This record gives sequence, C-alpha cells and structure tokens, in this order.
Amino acid sequence: MKSIHDAVDHKLYSEEDIAEMTKRLGQQLTKDYAGKRVLVVGALKGAIFFLTDLLREMDLACDIDFIDVSSYGNGTEPSGKITVTHDLEADVTGRDVLIVEDIVDTGLTLKFMKDELLSRGANSVKCCVLLNKTARRTTEVDVEYYGTHVGNEFVIGYGMDFAGLYRNLPYIGVIKPEVVEEFSSKHKHD
Ligand code: 5GP
Repeated sequence: MKSIHDAVDHKLYSEEDIAEMTKRLGQQLTKDYAGKRVLVVGALKGAIFFLTDLLREMDLACDIDFIDVSSYGNGTEPSGKITVTHDLEADVTGRDVLIVEDIVDTGLTLKFMKDELLSRGANSVKCCVLLNKTARRTTEVDVEYYGTHVGNEFVIGYGMDFAGLYRNLPYIGVIKPEVVEEFSSKHKHD
C-alpha cells in the first residue's frame, strides 16, 4: 500500500516546530483576551488540527463553533467566488470572535469571513492563522496572529489537503509536483 508520506517532496515544519508555534500563539492569545469569553471559530476543514492544539494552549473561557466556506476550487488555485457551505450555530452579536485558519493565501477567504461576521454584529473579529503566505495576497486583510510566513509553495499536512487528501500528515510539507500533475491529467476534462 502507498503511504501518504510519499506525496511529500520535503518537510517544512515538523511536529515540534508546529507545537512551538502553537504554544507561543496560545500564550499570546491568553494574554490578549484575558477576562473575555471568546467565540473561537474554526474554519473547516483545514483548521481542525491547529484549532484543537491551539485551544489546549489557551487558558481562557471560550466557546467553539465552526464555519465552512467554499471557494469552488479543487486543485491548487483559488477560484475567487466564496459562499458559506456550513454555517455557525452561534449568534455572533456582540461577541469577540477569533477565527482560526490553517493558511492565508490570497486573503479572500479570510476577508470574506471577517466581513460576514462583522456584518452579523460581532463586537470584534480577529484571526489566528498558522501559515501566512504573504507573497500571494491580493486583498488587504489584517492577520492579527500567525505562526510563521511561508513562501509560494503548495503545502499539505496538519489539516491542509490536496484534493481532499493528506490532511492527516502530522507535519507540514511541500507536495511533490508529480502528485499535482497526476491529479491534473486525470481531471483535465472535469
Ligand atoms: P485564500 O482565500 O487566502 O486564497 O485561501 C485560503 C484557503 O486556500 C486556505 O484555507 C486553504 O484551504 C487554501 N490554501 C491556500 N494555500 C494553500 C496551500 O499551500 N496548501 C493547501 N493545502 N491549501 C491552501
């Protein structure tokens, strides 16, 4: 049987690197939100691994909810059109919301989520992302908390997928170009 690790060209961040970033962010958030009841919103599905680790580093009273937005892309390029495909249960009116995301690339998804939650009456909407891909930003959006910058490479693992796969790699790595090419050639008529 083929291993999921075979799709990785090289490792970028080990489990230890991720734990260090998560701990630092958790400690910062604990300070900054002290005394507040935060509504932590995980962006499905990519953020679930980061979310559960981050929450355990946050010594805060918080509620947890989930949102899924889709940009209708199935490969490595965003399509630009965004809609909510799984909505929050919580009413965000007057709440201090912290969106947790795996990666910010063009910024379109994050901007959409922030604007959406603010328009529903949230008191504040900030975000904590693990990876900040600044080189591809096409829209202005504040990324208040992030683990590290990444370059313009397509990464997988620790929640991040390629065509639905590889989220369960425990580290973050760069995908092998041949995995992308194989997928593209199979789906070229989709
Ligand atoms: P944005 O709207 O900022 O362009 O894209 C955000 C979303 O695109 C992320 O939540 C993630 O799902 C996806 N994305 C962007 N870059 C990468 C990447 O390098 N690897 C993976 N797996 N997903 C990415």
